[in-house]
Amino acid sequence: MGTFFRGEARASFGSADMIGSPVPRINPPDPFLLNFRPLVSSSSPNPASKNSQAFPGKGKDLLPQAFRDLKEGELLVNEFFTSIQGESTFQGQPCFFIRLTGCHLRCVYCDTEYAFYQGQKETVETCLERAHQAQVQLVEVTGGEPLLQASCNPLLSRLCDDGFTVLLETSGCVPLHRVDERVHRIIDVKTPSSQMDAYNLKGLEDQLRSQDEIKFVVDNPEDYEWTRAWIQDHPKILDRGIPIHISPCEGKWKLEELAQKILDDRLPVRLNLQLHKLIWPDREQGI
Ligand code: SF4
Repeated sequence: MGTFFRGEARASFGSADMIGSPVPRINPPDPFLLNFRPLVSSSSPNPASKNSQAFPGKGKDLLPQAFRDLKEGELLVNEFFTSIQGESTFQGQPCFFIRLTGCHLRCVYCDTEYAFYQGQKETVETCLERAHQAQVQLVEVTGGEPLLQASCNPLLSRLCDDGFTVLLETSGCVPLHRVDERVHRIIDVKTPSSQMDAYNLKGLEDQLRSQDEIKFVVDNPEDYEWTRAWIQDHPKILDRGIPIHISPCEGKWKLEELAQKILDDRLPVRLNLQLHKLIWPDREQGI
């Protein structure tokens, strides 16, 4: 169990290298990224960030400069690690994680800010090798927002080709249609307390596949009511039996109250406690 190269990743990417231009150039070009504009301008750091004082991108750009140098088949990887899958219907299973660097959002409650800029260039082949070395059936590609990197989709497909059960955790704010149909997409619909809900994909309901799962991080009663209304407004998701998870924000809202609300409303969701954080409450990375 452990994080394999976190230390090296930090050592090889000084902070000056991690700050990029507003519109990163990647190779091959990706239509979403070519149209991408940062949500926060370089002169206006996001006031919503809970760690805005220490936020690595404060006053800087949102994506790492290293994105500019990525060639076809290369990825900027924040960390590899093997852990217990803490969320989704796969909760509790041993899982190998590939955390990709970079995110274009700045959710207030983000718990992976360390993945915004820090990373090491790796090839799809190396990622596959590491997955095989982990000797577990389940592999999750996460971030950051993994789909920002053009080689993410080829990586997902290669993992599927090699027989892994592949999960993708994505923000629900980037196009999903290119993701290999064999992948289980865990889509994190942004609730209002993230302050990123304006960027949720429109028409998500019609893009979902049978093996997808939806997740809402709920921070307070207002988030809960918003989530309940969202579920009611998207009846096809329940009709198709797509699992919906409600994940309480760490330590923010009394769990018992959230559980009681779900029970009172008979809301057909799964209360999703982040198992890895219960097991390793003192660790922030590599779990
Ligand atoms: S989408 Fe995920 S990684 Fe990006 S800011 Fe939000 S919580 Fe953090």
